Amino acid sequence: MKTEIDDTEEISTDPFPRPERALLTLAEIANRLAISEKHLRNMIESGRFPCDILRFGRSVRVLTREFSLWVSCSCPEKSEFSAIKSCAECRASFEICKKCRAAAMVAACGGGDEQAD
Ligand SMILES: [Zn+2]
Repeated sequence: MKTEIDDTEEISTDPFPRPERALLTLAEIANRLAISEKHLRNMIESGRFPCDILRFGRSVRVLTREFSLWVSCSCPEKSEFSAIKSCAECRASFEICKKCRAAAMVAACGGGDEQAD
């Protein structure tokens, strides 16, 4: 019986170990949102997708950190997300701060506009 423990994992051959890439493709974002890429493209085209879109020729990318921030805020609408992005505290931590979270909750309770597909 051979129970060899492989503890060589720490020695990485990758000189730049990245837990996460800086940019996401639309396919990756759609996947994370559990929506179709087509739906995502519609959101972008109609201006409902709140993250900044980076274009490299025909390739479209979104900053992972910005997307993560948006998701961590429970995917608020564009106007709301703009406020969060303009908040120094949220921007610094890339996480929604208490103040913005409270404001977002008020907005969520008071807002009545449905998101049509
Ligand atoms: Zn904030």
